[in-house]
Amino acid sequence: MVHASLLCFIILFLVLKFFLIPKNKRRPALVFLFYAKIEAMDKIIKTISESGSFRAFVLDSTETVRAAQEYHQTQASSTVALGRTLIASQILAANEKGNTKITVKILGTSSLGAIITVADTQGNVKGYVQNPGVDIKKTATGEVVVGPFVGNGEFLVITDYGTGNPYHSMTPLVTGEIGEDLAYYLTESQQTPSAVGLNVLLDEEDKVKVAGGFLVQVLPNAKEEEIARFEKRIQEMPAISTLLASDDHIEALLTAIYGEDHYKRLSEEEIRFQCDCSKERFMDALASLPAKDLQEMKDEDQGAEIVCQFCQTAYHFDKNDLEELIRDKS
Ligand SMILES: [Zn+2]
Repeated sequence: MVHASLLCFIILFLVLKFFLIPKNKRRPALVFLFYAKIEAMDKIIKTISESGSFRAFVLDSTETVRAAQEYHQTQASSTVALGRTLIASQILAANEKGNTKITVKILGTSSLGAIITVADTQGNVKGYVQNPGVDIKKTATGEVVVGPFVGNGEFLVITDYGTGNPYHSMTPLVTGEIGEDLAYYLTESQQTPSAVGLNVLLDEEDKVKVAGGFLVQVLPNAKEEEIARFEKRIQEMPAISTLLASDDHIEALLTAIYGEDHYKRLSEEEIRFQCDCSKERFMDALASLPAKDLQEMKDEDQGAEIVCQFCQTAYHFDKNDLEELIRDKS
């Protein structure tokens, strides 16, 4: 906004100057161009059918996955695997109320290692993949290989309502493609019949082109014929990749979900990749170490450096920081 008004002011100034200066004294003016950088923003749109029988969330997570790729320098397979897990946690967090934190752990046995993401009900998500260098794309089809690199294992969800007693819920990985694993988790853990879809599309240089997903849930008051109609529509829905590739993928998703049915938009909220780490937090973590270890770090290493796994930010703790921690312990 500030940039936009400044730009208007500069244009007005240049126009006035042009007319106020006599023609023979006009010189080519040096024009500075100010760009108001408009940050692209991810969003989740929550909707409900007019009949109140089912509801749907649709998400644009493109910037979220782009940020993840930048922070972790992920390659083709690791970008898609981490991106899909980030979207899965955004979907699960959107399904919660209050001040809830959702941790999704994809504990696979193959080359990607574990994928850990944490999302909250304020629209923040962070995450990392243990081995970000995994990079396989089938050149003929452009398809990115994910499932075999996740492998077998568990889909673990930790729900923290802020009570200090997080709730753990786990299902086996079905395909390792994350979307199917989330669908299976939802079927097993929730009584509500749901359909879910998510994906990340890459460009020729393996950078994130578009990322997003949806969740559709049948609500308790739905009539039999409505459920049947809903199921048929979900089965006939175009592939999530096709929908995401549309110019306006949010609209394409909503049209695919609701068809001719009327629906209401309940809300539109911003979602983003955001890490909540700070030097104070890591200082607290260091404080839990035995004084002997802290003394060693101070004397032998002349300090300590901690890198946040979620966003790769490095925090340095000098001898004074360590001394302070040691003093607090005695
Ligand atoms: Zn961080």
